[in-house]
Amino acid sequence: MNTQTHFGFEQVDEDDKARRVADVFDSVFRRYDLMNDLMSGGLHRLWKAFAVDRGGVREGSRVLDVAGGTGDLSLAFARRAGKSGQVWLTDINNAMLTRGRDRLTDKGVLLPVAQCDAENLPFPGNYFDCVSVAFGLRNMTRKERALAEMFRVLRPGGRLLALEFSRVWKPLAPLYDFYSFKIIPRIGNLVVRDEASYRYLAESIRVHPDQEALKTMMESAGFEKVEYFNLAMGVVALHRGFKL
Ligand code: SAM
Repeated sequence: MNTQTHFGFEQVDEDDKARRVADVFDSVFRRYDLMNDLMSGGLHRLWKAFAVDRGGVREGSRVLDVAGGTGDLSLAFARRAGKSGQVWLTDINNAMLTRGRDRLTDKGVLLPVAQCDAENLPFPGNYFDCVSVAFGLRNMTRKERALAEMFRVLRPGGRLLALEFSRVWKPLAPLYDFYSFKIIPRIGNLVVRDEASYRYLAESIRVHPDQEALKTMMESAGFEKVEYFNLAMGVVALHRGFKL
């Protein structure tokens, strides 16, 4: 039997997960940004701004946005890295990436864009000052391999920012469960006509490593000084680690 992994609460062959994840984003990409605003009440903008603030990116920095999707982080980094910097928007999914590139172009920002799998990054080692992955890790089949790749492409002294849904403060869990299993799939149905993709979102959050487990995974990949910041009572956590 092939190695199994999670796709939300389902167990699937590792070889099938990427296709199932691709189906999700091929279905939702047109309304992806609107859904983020609706589901989070706009909070995702603050979470992303918080992450970017901890990136240490300045004029001339080289940044890799992994699983960058529609480009929110890339845009914010590009504004900091300036003309002498280099910010790459990358994603495995062509529809999300094209949407991201078009959004940025509409805002007058032209960035290098690459369609690639985080588990096999087409970049040299020791190159980037900062690598980011926002709400992407959860969807990856072999997270250890992806983290090892992010570590490889960072220069010594560089840092990884991993922004992801995490484990909410326990007293809030019943309310959060109700919201994410009962309300979010309905919003998905109304806005995108796709309830299943937003049920996958809720389920995939539950099977994703919690704050401490992700910290340990980052340390195993070689990152040092790993710390995390809980946002919105742990609904989301930003993990930051350095390649020293
Ligand atoms: N970073 C963006 C943001 O914060 O809005 C997009 C996040 S979106 C929830 C997750 C993204 O991860 C999707 O665009 C998906 O295509 C991408 N993704 C999933 N698996 C990936 C992989 N193995 N390599 C690169 N990107 C991947």
